[in-house]
Amino acid sequence: CAVAAVIVARRVKSRRKWKKVANVLKEFEEGCDTSVGRLRQVVDAMAVEMHAGLASEGGSKLKMLLTYVDNLPNGTEKGPYYALHLGGTNFRVTRVHLSGQPSPVLEHEVERQPIPPHLMTGTSKDLFDFIASSLKEFVAKEDGSNSSQDRRELGFTFSFPMKQMSVSSGILIKWTKGFSIVDMVGRDVAACLQEAFARNGLDVHVAALVNDTVGTLAVGHYHDPDTVAAIVIGTGTNACYLERIDAIIKCQGLLTTSGRMVVNMEWGNFWSSHLPRTQYDIELDAESPNPNDQGFEKMISGMYLGDIVRRVILRMSLESDMFEPISSKLLTPFILRTPLMAAMHEDDSPDLIEVARILNDTFEIPDLPLKARKIVVKVCDVVTRRAARLAAAGIVGILKKIGRDGSGGITGGRSRSDIKMKRTVVAIEGGLYSSYTLFREYLHEALNEILGEDIAKHVILNVTEDGSGIGAALLAASYS
Ligand code: BGC
Repeated sequence: CAVAAVIVARRVKSRRKWKKVANVLKEFEEGCDTSVGRLRQVVDAMAVEMHAGLASEGGSKLKMLLTYVDNLPNGTEKGPYYALHLGGTNFRVTRVHLSGQPSPVLEHEVERQPIPPHLMTGTSKDLFDFIASSLKEFVAKEDGSNSSQDRRELGFTFSFPMKQMSVSSGILIKWTKGFSIVDMVGRDVAACLQEAFARNGLDVHVAALVNDTVGTLAVGHYHDPDTVAAIVIGTGTNACYLERIDAIIKCQGLLTTSGRMVVNMEWGNFWSSHLPRTQYDIELDAESPNPNDQGFEKMISGMYLGDIVRRVILRMSLESDMFEPISSKLLTPFILRTPLMAAMHEDDSPDLIEVARILNDTFEIPDLPLKARKIVVKVCDVVTRRAARLAAAGIVGILKKIGRDGSGGITGGRSRSDIKMKRTVVAIEGGLYSSYTLFREYLHEALNEILGEDIAKHVILNVTEDGSGIGAALLAASYS
């Protein structure tokens, strides 16, 4: 009788435990609501903020930065050009050989290396000397016998917000994505790089200084002239697009030969009360190196998604003994990197073996029951689905602003399906979209829901591989 009582008590305890976990999950899911109605509100808010950011300096959290890129490369560029890309987890050096043929024949070599973490928070001199010496080694390897070549032209992809004065100069406004080199803020990035080249004995000229989205747009447009915008969803996130010069009210009198200019939106800093924000987002933001900044980015990009998952699992383990004993690793910010989170999410083994392995390796939580592993997968799903759907809403916001969302033509009794929608290409780059299948599927599903399939079928997302680097080299060729 006593044994039966113990068994009953255990069952009751276990049921309570799972109920608590289920409540945390339910509350989290509700907080992450991205119903199509809400996404449409985000679309409208994005378009409104774009107008405000173009109307006046500081008119919106969306900076809508001028890039001075008014002509995109068209394939007539010729010769060898170099590119450096700094901005995410890796640093890349690229050499592109342009054939000068109208058909886009490109040869290129790329070398990647992780950025040593101490350089992300050290001094600008250390960072730029590291960049210059990496380029020097690359040039020596690539050119070897051809070391007498004339001065080399280079495009620098610098994936942080810059106030540009020209295509080849720009002042760093602030750091994002965990970088924090205080002496760099407010300085001309191209000049710092040029000085580092001089210190390292390199005869290389910085002909173009571009955001990674701008490089992606350049290469996307080079391959497909219907490309009107570019998105990066990697460690950070951002978008740029081609805008009519007369729509950039804050710079009246600006003239360009094409009548257009690429605008770097810096959409990672977009904010709207319609965004589905949970307590986990609020806590993540408060504990991040840049509180009250990059709100959209913190819900979407690779630097943060794993940490949102960690925070939810931590709360579950505090509310119940599901992950007993609580591992101190669960308290460590950013310990769960997004690629590992994606691997758990996409584990299709019946026993979720990969989930168990990653939880054990990352948090030292051994032998988690299958039921708990399934809950972890569900948490990953909620986080990723929200991110992908918000990114889709952002893309439609841009399309709306430039009249490519199909809504402008709904007049004169014509139905949406009758509208002649122009083929609209958006270049896209970054691991979340290119390597995370479920993220990509959720993003496309949301585009279809928001736009309707008849319109969405005219919107093509084109992945560009190392587009941001090659694009910078192309722009160096166009502007040198
Ligand atoms: C930066 C952007 C960049 C994006 C993607 C953001 O954190 O502010 O300039 O384009 O990351 O790399």
